[in-house]
Amino acid sequence: MRAMWWELARIMMREIVVRCDERGFDCHYSTIGDIYKVIFDYGDHMKKEHGIEYSPGTLETYLKKRKYN
Ligand SMILES: [Zn+2]
Repeated sequence: MRAMWWELARIMMREIVVRCDERGFDCHYSTIGDIYKVIFDYGDHMKKEHGIEYSPGTLETYLKKRKYN
């Protein structure tokens, strides 16, 4: 239980980068920060620039599954 908590904290605290082109868009947008900042910024960008709404849960799952965070 304790180990799982630390693993989760490690993932959450880490600074990560997400780039729009890694999702297949011809777009140079990128954002960096902790996972929740990235989820918020990228979700906002997707909605405003590409008209696609991602739920925070969808983005969170994507970022946590990504192998090269
Ligand atoms: Zn974009």
